[in-house]
Amino acid sequence: MQVTEILIKSAKVVLTMDDARRELSEADVRLRGGQIVEIGTDLDSDGEIVLAQGCVVTPGLVNTHHHLYQTLTRAVPGGQDALLFGWLQTLYPIWSRFGPEEMNISAQIGLAELALSGCTLTSDHLYLYPNGARLDDTIDAAKEIGMRFHPTRGSMSIGESDGGLPPDSLVENEAAILNDTIRLIDAHHDASEGAMVRIGVAPCSPFSVSRELMRDAATLARDKGVMLHTHLAENEEDIAYSLEKFGCRPGQYAEDLGWTGEDVWHAHCVKLDGQEIDLFARSQTGVAHCPCSNCRLGSGIAPVRQMRDAGVPVGLGVDGSASNDAGNLVAEARQAMLLQRVSRGADAMSAREALEIATRGGAQVLGRSDCGQIAVGKRADIAIWDVSGIEAAGSWDPAALLLAGPTRVKHLFVEGRQVVRDGHVATIDLPRVIERQNALAQALMG
Ligand SMILES: [Zn+2]
Repeated sequence: MQVTEILIKSAKVVLTMDDARRELSEADVRLRGGQIVEIGTDLDSDGEIVLAQGCVVTPGLVNTHHHLYQTLTRAVPGGQDALLFGWLQTLYPIWSRFGPEEMNISAQIGLAELALSGCTLTSDHLYLYPNGARLDDTIDAAKEIGMRFHPTRGSMSIGESDGGLPPDSLVENEAAILNDTIRLIDAHHDASEGAMVRIGVAPCSPFSVSRELMRDAATLARDKGVMLHTHLAENEEDIAYSLEKFGCRPGQYAEDLGWTGEDVWHAHCVKLDGQEIDLFARSQTGVAHCPCSNCRLGSGIAPVRQMRDAGVPVGLGVDGSASNDAGNLVAEARQAMLLQRVSRGADAMSAREALEIATRGGAQVLGRSDCGQIAVGKRADIAIWDVSGIEAAGSWDPAALLLAGPTRVKHLFVEGRQVVRDGHVATIDLPRVIERQNALAQALMG
């Protein structure tokens, strides 16, 4: 196979997010064979040259929590102003009518939206499989777009008739859940460096599966060497449910069932207390912080400053498009920065720190030491932001991208392959996919 080389040339600034957090002016970055092979100035190339004059170059952003299927249920009227549990009960009956095409098309939309906002690596959490839908439907979408993808095999097993929240039609038998998880890991999981697909194990939340499934999922994940993911401590209702049903706080519940460690990451964690933050720091359990979703559902402000100070690995997540409803990851990073300032003052989080969380922070949470920074030997996942336009006009510090900067990339590379070119998704026919998505939404409304 011919090894393609791309030289990103004359960037105004390269924000490397490397171990020294270097910021390089008028710099070039050479990509070859899916890797970053050289960083310098005045480099030459016989291969393709991408001019980055007037641009800030950053590592590709990493999204650590999403439900891609939900792009088909954005701004559903009954769910627009509800709290978490009421919101779920409005949406479950709609989601129960999804099938393979809904999963595939909504994933293409969600992934394309992420790519345009600078994301090169995303996880996804799919926890319902109605009408023959499979996790494979989303993996196909990621392959087509060219996104590095960590889909997780979610699940729900406690339906309404057993005192759970979801309707019985959306829950699965626990043995079938584990069998399908094994099938998916064996078919798709790639543990090697530079992997484009890694599978995770992800019961939806402690209130939608049994204690036994939580424990079995942890055992299976460790046996297979894959990661574990779920929702935890999202809001006050969530804490109250845990205290009432399990007689302990969510952190304790997680620890008792093997759900702590560097191979585990939990979404939200808005209501973690000091002891739980210490537990997560000690065990290096990761957190997917989802600020827009937390605002949208009125869940509260996650203690990200305290988590970071304690040494908890924190990444960002846009969360599903039924609770955001946007999937713009760089906008999410700005929201993370603003929200910490709301609770702790203007010096609580800088633009650079929020971007660090969105890049190397997320890579750490997903166990990807090969991603999240621009350094020789890391994967060629690069976002290029044009700061010569209106958003950064008059900016004294264009590298403070989250204060004044574009929220769409000019170019995006994943594993050295160009996914966004001149502000447009280069790998799929996006207008056609949008048209199909709107037709599917219309059919669900009817
Ligand atoms: Zn979620």
